[in-house]
Amino acid sequence: MSEKKDPKSFELYLLKKRIDILKKKKGYHTALISLYIPGNKTLSDVTNYLKNEYGQASNIKSKSNRKNVMDAITSIIAKLKVIKTLPEEGIAIFVGAIPTNGAGTEKLESYIVLPPENITTFRYYCSSEFYLDPLIEMLRPKNVFGLIVIDRSGATFATLQGSTLNIVQNISSAVPGKHGKGGQSQRRFERLIEQATSEFFIRAGEHMNKIYLPLLEGEEGNKLEGIIIGGSGPTKEKFAESNVFDYRLKEKIISIVDVGYNDEAGIKELIKKSEDLLENFQFIKERNLVQKFMMHIAKDTGYAIYGEEEIRKYLNMGAIDVLLLSENLDYIRVQIECNNCGWNEEQTMRSQEFSKFEDKISDIHCPKCNSSLISVKSKVDLIEYLGNLAESVGTRVEIISGSTEEGGQFWAGFGGLGAILRYKVEDK
Ligand SMILES: [Zn+2]
Repeated sequence: MSEKKDPKSFELYLLKKRIDILKKKKGYHTALISLYIPGNKTLSDVTNYLKNEYGQASNIKSKSNRKNVMDAITSIIAKLKVIKTLPEEGIAIFVGAIPTNGAGTEKLESYIVLPPENITTFRYYCSSEFYLDPLIEMLRPKNVFGLIVIDRSGATFATLQGSTLNIVQNISSAVPGKHGKGGQSQRRFERLIEQATSEFFIRAGEHMNKIYLPLLEGEEGNKLEGIIIGGSGPTKEKFAESNVFDYRLKEKIISIVDVGYNDEAGIKELIKKSEDLLENFQFIKERNLVQKFMMHIAKDTGYAIYGEEEIRKYLNMGAIDVLLLSENLDYIRVQIECNNCGWNEEQTMRSQEFSKFEDKISDIHCPKCNSSLISVKSKVDLIEYLGNLAESVGTRVEIISGSTEEGGQFWAGFGGLGAILRYKVEDK
């Protein structure tokens, strides 16, 4: 069995960025082609498929659309020739004639996306826009939550994954009602309750193990992120503290909540009452990192740095353990080059400043040969630039959301650029 990758926040950031670009591309008729190729597909089969589509395209009535579609298919076939073997995850290719300024100004644009998880189905689409659903689906969280409601009369076990709620099991207990019937001694009655409760707990514990342990091990590529237990009365706490289910599941309990029912209605109430928790849970990992970063800064331990220049410096030294980048960062890293002598320089600027910079580029003179033949050699999103640099030296990258409290502090206080170091740096 191949190991299921857990897409990293940086990888998902890059995918989201790519999707945003592709979403904006609009063409005419059916001129934009989207092609999803699973990793186990034979490339020659794909090429044959495309050749057939090329033949079909010759029947397209509109002359301009016919040309656009055929050009796009030709371009894809040429790209496939260069690819020797497909990556395990497969590949997504988007090619189409995009108008730059109305009809007749179309230029062929092409994009290759290496997905963070496997493409499972071969798909070929011609439309006026790119077909992006399979990629968008990959952005959906794969994490699973275990939800349990339990009280003295029964329990319900459920899982929540993304927005899908699955009620897995409902059981009822044989625990008698709170008040004994006449004729029984109070002590005997309490013993009965105790015994029935203990049997009920054991049964509930077995269901816990059966339902949630496989998720813990991630057999379906899922990952149990946390367990929330709800119910009325003290049963839920007693159950959470008991030893009737695996200790690894116990470690996953993140919250115990008061709800009124022990059935599906109870599960729904539990979700409602835990909305904040569930919504923010994916951010808990990054929250902890930001808190750790800020603790190092506050205590001046020498284990944290911030600011773009510092980050580049320590990245190049291989000194950064975790690089934290706010998703709010809207900067680009631009490299300019002298076409006369080859001198070049990189600088960082706000994304919206770029067009102004480009307009004034002829004012720049090369510091080496004084030529004014300066041009933009490359232009990369700053998060992408720093993230790639970090990955190339084995540094973990975490994209910090802008919507959490800690994320907001990280953005406002540190400009959204920080790092936790592998070792203490003395000459800071
Ligand atoms: Zn020069």
